[in-house]
Amino acid sequence: MRAMVLHQFSSPLRMENVPDPQAGLDEVVVKVKACAPDMLDVKTRAGQSNVTLPRILGHEIAGEVAEAGASVKNVRVGDRVAVYDYLNCGACEFCWNGRETLCRNNKGIVGLAIDGGFADYVKVPGRNVLPIPPDVSDEAATTLVSPVSTSLHALRERAKVSPGDNVLIVGAAGGVGIHMV
Ligand SMILES: [Zn+2]
Repeated sequence: MRAMVLHQFSSPLRMENVPDPQAGLDEVVVKVKACAPDMLDVKTRAGQSNVTLPRILGHEIAGEVAEAGASVKNVRVGDRVAVYDYLNCGACEFCWNGRETLCRNNKGIVGLAIDGGFADYVKVPGRNVLPIPPDVSDEAATTLVSPVSTSLHALRERAKVSPGDNVLIVGAAGGVGIHMV
C-alpha cells in the first residue's frame, strides 16, 4: 500500500510503498477514506512527541472496514467507521466507567505508538472503531473522535452549558475551539 512515512524529524513525510497490514484476531484493517492532519502530527514531525521512527502519522481517521479478525464482533467488513485513537485496554476500572482517557494500561495513540492513517490502510484494535451514521461524511467523521468529542464533553459534562447561557470560548482558532463555537 501507499503510505506517507516520517523517517526524520523536521523533514517532509515521504510517500512509499509498504506492506499491507493484516488484521490479527481482535484487530481490524480499515481502508482509509479520510485522515485529517492535526496539531499532534505537526508536533510529532517537529520531534516534540514520544515516537519511534519510521512512523506513519495520522490519527483522525475515517474509512471502511476491509478486514476484521475472528474475535471482532462490533463491526463487519464494509462498515463505515471512524477510528478512536487512544489505545486503551478496555479492561481496567476507568475503561469500564467511561473514563477511557485515564486507562491504567494505555499503550499510546494511533499514529504515534502504532502506524496511523496517512496511508491506504490502517490496522487498529477492533474496539477502536465506531460506526459512522449514513448522513455523516468521511471527512466530517474524522473530526468526531478528537476535536468534536473533546468540545462536547467539555461543554456538556464539565461546564454544563445550557441554551441561553452566555459563554466565552478561548482559542476559537484551533480544532477544539472551532467546534465549541
Ligand atoms: Zn483501561
